[in-house]
Amino acid sequence: MAADCIFCRIVRGESPARRVYENAHVVAFHDIAPQAPVHVLVIPRLHIASVLELGEEEVEILKGVHEAIRRVAEETGVATTGFRVVTNCGRDGHQTVFHLHYHILGGRRLGWPPG
Ligand code: C5P
Repeated sequence: MAADCIFCRIVRGESPARRVYENAHVVAFHDIAPQAPVHVLVIPRLHIASVLELGEEEVEILKGVHEAIRRVAEETGVATTGFRVVTNCGRDGHQTVFHLHYHILGGRRLGWPPG
């Protein structure tokens, strides 16, 4: 846990978030500035800065992430229409919060390639 990390504070319940799903490894909540009708973030409970910090020890966390993606997609309805999962990494990837998170975006036809 990182004391000054906004997503660690959300995990601890110290900052508000509209949670939609959680399991032993992750918390999922609605993004505060949604970019699509469905925009949910899945974050590990453990402070991991980015996808670059994932290794074999984190395999159980990744299972939890993927379980969350499926459950959120089903519960928000985008499982049937389609959706996108994105993790931004570093400056050029437009990462602004340095606690690993996966965006689940859907509810409208998404463009490709992304900007
Ligand atoms: O991938 P990136 O780091 O740019 O995304 C961070 C995301 O976290 C943004 O979509 C932002 O709206 C969201 N956020 C949030 N709640 C906060 C702080 C940031 O949903 N308290």
